[in-house]
Amino acid sequence: MNLRIPGPTPCPPEVLQAMSREMINHRGPAFARIIEKVTARLKELFLTQSEVLVLTGSGTGGLEAMVVNTLSPGDEVLGLTNGYFGERLAAIAQDFGAKITRLDFPWGEPVDPGEVRQALKKNPNYKAVLLVHNETSTGVTNDLKGIAEIVREHDKLFLVDAVSSLGSLPCCMDAWGLDVVVTCSQKGWMAPPGLAMVGISSRGWKAVEQAKMPRHYWDFRTAKQYLARGQTSWTPAVSTFFALEVGLELMAREGLENIWERHRRVGQRAREGAKALGLSPLPPEPVASNTVTAIRAPEGLDVARLVKILLEEYDTDLAGGQGKLSGKIFRIGHLGYVTEADIDLTLKAIAKALPRAGYAIPQGLR
Ligand SMILES: *Cc1c(COP(=O)(O)O)cnc(C)c1O
Repeated sequence: MNLRIPGPTPCPPEVLQAMSREMINHRGPAFARIIEKVTARLKELFLTQSEVLVLTGSGTGGLEAMVVNTLSPGDEVLGLTNGYFGERLAAIAQDFGAKITRLDFPWGEPVDPGEVRQALKKNPNYKAVLLVHNETSTGVTNDLKGIAEIVREHDKLFLVDAVSSLGSLPCCMDAWGLDVVVTCSQKGWMAPPGLAMVGISSRGWKAVEQAKMPRHYWDFRTAKQYLARGQTSWTPAVSTFFALEVGLELMAREGLENIWERHRRVGQRAREGAKALGLSPLPPEPVASNTVTAIRAPEGLDVARLVKILLEEYDTDLAGGQGKLSGKIFRIGHLGYVTEADIDLTLKAIAKALPRAGYAIPQGLR
């Protein structure tokens, strides 16, 4: 199976093997050794000296944890959105009582740092800014570094969904001054779903002490206390911990810069391959993501049919569009355990299936 969705992503054989291990006591020394190693490796890959917590849940759980641990009901929050996940993050904060002002950008375009500066100047009362680094729904990588600079200038708390970027794309928590960053095991980490990983800066911890949103399962303070003993607050997804330990070992061996470079090559390959079939990526090239490629459905293409043919006849699993992009784009996931050969295989299958889903590849390109 060529699983080419932006998570869950394929797992290397060593990771799958680790998943089949017998359970262990999550309050015993064997688990303590694992969580200590996992946490140390995560700190290296998050590029932070601060604590990284590993919580059992999906990425959205990690995002909810970030919100309820740092904000209070009534806090004014600026939610930057340019896609489905930006809207989700703003909705989480809103559901817990934050006073959200959304600054919306067109889906397929990046968040404009200049407009963020204007918004922060206009209202000095914002406590926090929310941003999705890599908008998986549109294949756009936002200028996290540039926006972080502006957020720092205005001394706001910066809460970042880095779910589909951290570990795959440059995302430098300490150097860029990010306060809380969230990712999860089934994206770029070559592991199955089950764990959310959250980095919290010292400014982030100050917010945690003051925050008044209700929390229990997600409480960072409890998680930090348990981590000091080599444990998690509650029973963790033990098998996913086994897998993540091995995935992180593979990542350490490859080296973070090499991983970024591999994703850059793979992303470029996907976009060039799409263009070679006469298709156009949704985002402009400079902001096109190197972990997921969103491709516009050309006139006549039935996206649902394309995805179905690829799955049933070519053993290739692609993603369609989400929300208002449903039927308008399709997406190739390329994060984690992925090489250029995987992309070539995917493009070959797409080329075969396209004509049967309503799109004739232009003569000269066939
Ligand atoms: C996948 C994803 C999420 C949600 O993660 P779940 O594990 O499905 O809850 C959130 N944000 C982004 C940017 C994602 O790519």
